[in-house]
Amino acid sequence: AKEAGRGTHAFFEDSMTLQLKQEMDIARELSQAIKQDELLIHYQPQFDLQEGRLVGMEALVRWRHPSRGLLYPGDFIAVAEKRGLIRGLSDWVLTDACRQSRAWAEQGLDFGRIAVNLCAHQVGDLAFGDRILEILRDTGALPGHLELEFTETVLIEATAQTQSDIVRLSELGVHFAIDDFGTGFSSLQYLRKFRTDKIKIDREFVKDVILDAGDAEIVKATIALGTALGLITVAEGVETEEQADFLRRHGCRQAQGYLYARPIPASDVEQRWLRLTSP
Ligand code: C2E
Ligand code: CA
Ligand code: CA
Ligand code: CA
Repeated sequence: AKEAGRGTHAFFEDSMTLQLKQEMDIARELSQAIKQDELLIHYQPQFDLQEGRLVGMEALVRWRHPSRGLLYPGDFIAVAEKRGLIRGLSDWVLTDACRQSRAWAEQGLDFGRIAVNLCAHQVGDLAFGDRILEILRDTGALPGHLELEFTETVLIEATAQTQSDIVRLSELGVHFAIDDFGTGFSSLQYLRKFRTDKIKIDREFVKDVILDAGDAEIVKATIALGTALGLITVAEGVETEEQADFLRRHGCRQAQGYLYARPIPASDVEQRWLRLTSP
């Protein structure tokens, strides 16, 4: 029994070391990846549920790893946050998305807005507002073509500085969306305190909205709350017509999910979804 115990312990230690090693590998390779242009963005279109037209798209980062193939945020965002690489990564994503926005605007294409995910580190940064403005200026993207997404936890921890940066950017036309709504430490106070434009109903609730009466009630209540506060509600992870019908019937304004489109390269979005802006 003692032997077996020691064996288990050794095994546990080995797997800990292995995990740590992998994490350090990823961190080292990621800092190179940012410089060597191995990151890319896939865009997932978002649609108006009533009219069916494209209203914008979410920028989702990917990493074309030289040996491991295409990696998804789940494989590296947490490591980037833990190892101090998230700022560089986020800066890259914002800049690349803004460059794309500028390019489409110049071609006269109607892409709505590009939404970019921000993490707590970025929003908590004292220079948050200045950095966004700097990227907009450097790339020539319009503030009215940008949307920033962050979770409710970020808003709860936000300082007065963050709050005034949000106001400043809002006044220029940047939109703000609360991501994964309902999954965090929900406090409704911040919905009043911050000027946001959208709430994104998390896929966790949308997934079983047809099967689970509890989830259905949460979704209905979230839509009602958003509507009452004058916010646009967006459902994430819509995969079936039944889900879309439910959401439409209950007044949800926009949707994003595999039913409509998976996250795809910018060139595919352009080919399949973009039209010239009507004069
Ligand atoms: P999120 O913001 O909740 O993004 C939605 C995720 O759901 C994406 O996963 C998307 O591919 C996936 N998804 C969309 N529609 C469907 C659907 O119909 N069914 C299913 N099963 N999944 C769907 P992805 O791309 O793996 O991203 C995961 C998370 O990584 C994102 O969750 C976001 O929090 C984070 N993330 C992505 N890009 C960035 C980034 O540039 N910066 C930061 N800080 N975080 C990012
Ligand atoms: Ca998001
Ligand atoms: Ca989500
Ligand atoms: Ca999220």
